[in-house]
Amino acid sequence: MQSDTRLSGKWEKSSRKKDPSGGPIFSAAFGIPLTINGLSPKPGQRRIAVNEKPQRAVLEMNEYQQEQLDALKMVRHGLMQLGEARRKKLIETVGDYMQFRRLVDDFLNRYFNEICTRTCYQSRTSACCARDSIITFFADTVIDALHATPAQLDRLETKLCRVNAGHRCVYLGSEGCVWTVRPVVCAMFLCDRAMDTVFRRAPEAKGLWASLRRQEKKFKWPDRPVLFDDLEKVFLDMGCQSTLMHLNLSPGLLRVKKNAGLM
Ligand code: SF4
Repeated sequence: MQSDTRLSGKWEKSSRKKDPSGGPIFSAAFGIPLTINGLSPKPGQRRIAVNEKPQRAVLEMNEYQQEQLDALKMVRHGLMQLGEARRKKLIETVGDYMQFRRLVDDFLNRYFNEICTRTCYQSRTSACCARDSIITFFADTVIDALHATPAQLDRLETKLCRVNAGHRCVYLGSEGCVWTVRPVVCAMFLCDRAMDTVFRRAPEAKGLWASLRRQEKKFKWPDRPVLFDDLEKVFLDMGCQSTLMHLNLSPGLLRVKKNAGLM
């Protein structure tokens, strides 16, 4: 599946420090070492000793980039450890989610392509990708790694290792988003202006969008067993832990699970 260059990313209203459950602010650090190769970061920065692609590497990245890079490397390494048969099984496991994502793409192409292209792409505004740090789930990274080629994943790593000027998402390249399967918050983001315009013109789209929103919850909202939780657990069972494992680390989402009798 190719990355959608329509640039309909997301503009999460909350910062990534917010609990993805909508609950109170939570700590971003959940056990991933804050130093790399024994070097301590400056405030607001991580210092890295990059031993891959030294010609491309930069020496300083922000905390967001570092935790994204940590998760990506963890996922790539974990998938290698799992082996080909288990990897294929995981691809089957995420099949329903990928079908859902195709429905979302079809919907967006049908109703929003024209307005997003005109408003953001042609004008190079890309307002929906204008935040430097978006909330991603660990499962987003797993799903992307399952569907991307090694070269595409290398490209993600390269982007994360570059200094980001801060006024655009770190993943936004000249050809659009460098994810192969964009994070779900990006796929499901529509700005108010676009929604107002489209839903006025095509009222049926409003109901379809609400239905897609409900389907989205079935994959990531843990008031029932959900795919995003299962994918985190595959890696937790291997002894991996990432700050992006919100369904197992966010106090708010843990509360949702507890209230649903899932823990
Ligand atoms: S990851 Fe960044 S560049 Fe990609 S769609 Fe989301 S906000 Fe836009």
